[in-house]
Amino acid sequence: MVTVTAVQTFNNLINGEWVASSSGNTFDSTNPAQVTDIVGRFQASVEADVLLAMESAERAFAAWRNTAPSKRAEILYKAADLLEAGLEQYAEELTREEGKTLASSRMEVKRSAQTLRYYASEGLNVSGSTLPSDDPTTFVYTRKEPLGVVTVITPWNFPISIPVRKIAPALVTGNTVVFKPASDTPLIALRLVEVLHLAGLPAGVINFVTGSASRTGTPLVTHPAVKAVTFTGSTGAGETINKAVRLSTRVQLELGGKNPLVVLEDADIDLAVELAIKAGFELTGQACTGTSRVIVMDEVHDLFVQQLIAKTEALTIGNGLYKGIEIGPLANQSQLSNVLDYVAIGQAEGATLAFGGEHLADGEYANGYFVRPAIFTNVTPKMRIAQEEIFGPVISIIRVSSFKEAIEIANDIEYGLSAAICTSDPNRAQYFIQHIQAGIVKVNRPTTGVAYNAPFGGVKMSSTATYRESGRTAVDFYTQEKTVYHG
Ligand code: NAD
Repeated sequence: MVTVTAVQTFNNLINGEWVASSSGNTFDSTNPAQVTDIVGRFQASVEADVLLAMESAERAFAAWRNTAPSKRAEILYKAADLLEAGLEQYAEELTREEGKTLASSRMEVKRSAQTLRYYASEGLNVSGSTLPSDDPTTFVYTRKEPLGVVTVITPWNFPISIPVRKIAPALVTGNTVVFKPASDTPLIALRLVEVLHLAGLPAGVINFVTGSASRTGTPLVTHPAVKAVTFTGSTGAGETINKAVRLSTRVQLELGGKNPLVVLEDADIDLAVELAIKAGFELTGQACTGTSRVIVMDEVHDLFVQQLIAKTEALTIGNGLYKGIEIGPLANQSQLSNVLDYVAIGQAEGATLAFGGEHLADGEYANGYFVRPAIFTNVTPKMRIAQEEIFGPVISIIRVSSFKEAIEIANDIEYGLSAAICTSDPNRAQYFIQHIQAGIVKVNRPTTGVAYNAPFGGVKMSSTATYRESGRTAVDFYTQEKTVYHG
């Protein structure tokens, strides 16, 4: 059992001080595996709090932009050490807030420390270029400069690794930050801010406000100090933000996905099943890169479905804090309702619910948002369950009779984040790599799981692709090039 202790209230961080919201109101972050377990109480911030955060970030920019790059890097290295030193505590807090298994949380916290170190070192490599000049008396070169205040808005599903891959490159290149995390997972987000603060970030360089999008969203993205907004979340919210920002504000939007796994007739079926389970059901299907469509060749369809059902049946569902649990709860009530709605929609559309999809509400599941992973067969490509992002453990299986048809169906969708193929034929794998419309493509690997040092992002409605997140080019979003003619 989770030990329920007195509920702690956590504050915003503004200008280096932990302060309460001027609203006087708070909200609770609860454990989705056991909703009576309150993880923490957080500030229900309003516009006035955001304005203070913006002013603080704007003031701090002048000194931070001129701080030695090695000093900025040093702070990130120190924050990484602090994060690792508290790994067990942070992983447990993450699981209590979000629901994923403890093993997944440990990986995420560890990855976040690696990301801090990666950008600490990348910050020392930010460089412009020198150009051949027609005028021998003029030296022509470019330098990369920070933008100013960056707003960071993030979702709950990777509540520390997504913020860190935005905040670290922003800070190390000399920007200041106003960060608003998702309201389901404010504690682990606060821990990230706390380690950066403790590592020595000067007052105002990072500011942290919690609260609802309806009370904080507009000032966060429209304040005149904001020079860039980096957002990860739903496509709908991304579109709203895109319309709201000023012309002079850069926007980076990482949005939804409806990622396909294509299984060819020469695939290792054990591997294909493993990939579908890992990317479709682990993290309770709540990964933007999760597999939600499996497009399977006729010859191996029945065998694949049979094995997928057998392996899914054997998965242990429960509170992610406990040993042996493979699938945790959904993150909140609206996630649960959404998944159950889509299970009903799929049946109404004529697909066959071959396995699962039921709400688990008894016994150990009584106080959480648990659902049994669902497998639909006889899915046709235009059904809503094959086109719309469900963001839960629901796999739609589409049967095809040719490789060409598989690629056509995989691409016939508004999203394009991640895609995978399972095959033993290197030529068809290569053809898939070239023709699939996705920002990330995997061969015999799950659609989920990305390297912190590789570019991340989608095509079509999955992201605004001007700047990729992660990897060497990630810092480009947070810097602007100045061209100098020096006589
Ligand atoms: P969401 O869009 O509801 O919320 C994300 C964040 O944006 C939250 O902090 C929320 O408070 C804030 N927000 C919402 N509307 C806003 C507005 N109008 N102005 C300012 N802020 C606003 O998403 P969610 O439910 O937290 O996360 C699930 C979604 O995130 C899924 O669609 C998933 O695909 C997507 N996601 C994408 C990626 C990626 O990298 N492409 C990664 C993880 C999650």
